[in-house]
Amino acid sequence: MAAMSDKWVEIDDAAILHNLDQVRSLLSASTRLIAVVKANAYGHGLVETATLLADNGVEFFAVTFLDEALKLREAGIKGAILLLSPLVDEDAVQKAIRAQITIMISSLKGASLADRVSLTEQTRLTVHLKIETGLNRFGLSDDEAEQVCKSLSRNPYIYIEGIYTHMAHAGAGHPGYTRQQFGRFMNTVRRLNDSGYTIPIRHCANSAVTLRFPEMHLDAVRVGTLLSGQYPVGDIPKPITLLDPFQYKTRIISLNQRPAGSYIGYFRNYRLGQSARIAVLPVGFIDGVAVDVVNPPAGGLDAVKKAVKILFTWLGLPGFTAQVQINGQPCTVVGKVFMQFTLIKLPENVEAGVGTVVSLPARKTLVSPAIKRIHSRVAPGATVSSD
Ligand SMILES: *Cc1c(COP(=O)(O)O)cnc(C)c1O
Repeated sequence: MAAMSDKWVEIDDAAILHNLDQVRSLLSASTRLIAVVKANAYGHGLVETATLLADNGVEFFAVTFLDEALKLREAGIKGAILLLSPLVDEDAVQKAIRAQITIMISSLKGASLADRVSLTEQTRLTVHLKIETGLNRFGLSDDEAEQVCKSLSRNPYIYIEGIYTHMAHAGAGHPGYTRQQFGRFMNTVRRLNDSGYTIPIRHCANSAVTLRFPEMHLDAVRVGTLLSGQYPVGDIPKPITLLDPFQYKTRIISLNQRPAGSYIGYFRNYRLGQSARIAVLPVGFIDGVAVDVVNPPAGGLDAVKKAVKILFTWLGLPGFTAQVQINGQPCTVVGKVFMQFTLIKLPENVEAGVGTVVSLPARKTLVSPAIKRIHSRVAPGATVSSD
């Protein structure tokens, strides 16, 4: 396992369960938790993370795409699975119905597709209506929501279980826009109620809203970021403790003493003031080593430039030094990060050789799912190591 890999991610299941408990402590008995496990469970491994959560009482999951939902079903997840993006063809809706996936309806077209396919399949289809309130990604207007309720309530196979919306910047300083979105959402809910459509599960809270606006918890919250051990970006109250379950690791594959004056890496942009040991790590910007490439680079050179700039910006480190850790001791990244390699300078006091394990800073969701996640259960009550 680990010994054979040159890079891997260690996931501390105890930390995930700690975060789960913390999130639950925020919720009243009438609010359910919808665990959002999209994007490979925020990098932690879709199936392993969902299974862990399911084993610990989570009964409702959400993912973005059908293939994620189907993977969960294949892995034996029995709970509800809500899709957070629309299905656009019959084949997909048919698959969703057969796997008992809960789909979202965000357009009139989507509604008639669901209507049609469920009638053909003659199988129950559970849906949640997505209401547009200001993110302007997808969702039904007020009028459309009523139309959809009217037409779908004639279909005996369709169960409108939920209605939801999504907030544009719940973490940002001014709560006004979020309150406005919430107001619009509740107006739609009320209007549907008045027309005789009562939908049992109303939800609008992601992690930021869950923390900042307890009055918006309603019947369910959709939380991903907090479970993965991070606070959402923004000016957010921090009433709970979160543990980061994620440790990205690699091993030194080459180590050489370089004399004073040596240039390190491409473009000679780093020069050693004194003789030092320089180690090579088999990870680069394509491995998600704290690198967030936003736009497609204009070429190889541009890719390297962008990657390094983003790496340093994202890390926000003083003096533009990115760091990795060996046995808890910081080591500086030197020269430009390569596509698949990184060079580090070893301080005198750090003992290391080829094979020594190195902890990497990571943008978790950008660490390729192909890199193995190794889940380690820690006995209850044990201290969670933080190196
Ligand atoms: C990603 C997502 C969430 C979860 O948001 P977090 O801030 O990560 O908790 C909730 N709802 C929708 C629609 C999402 O796309």
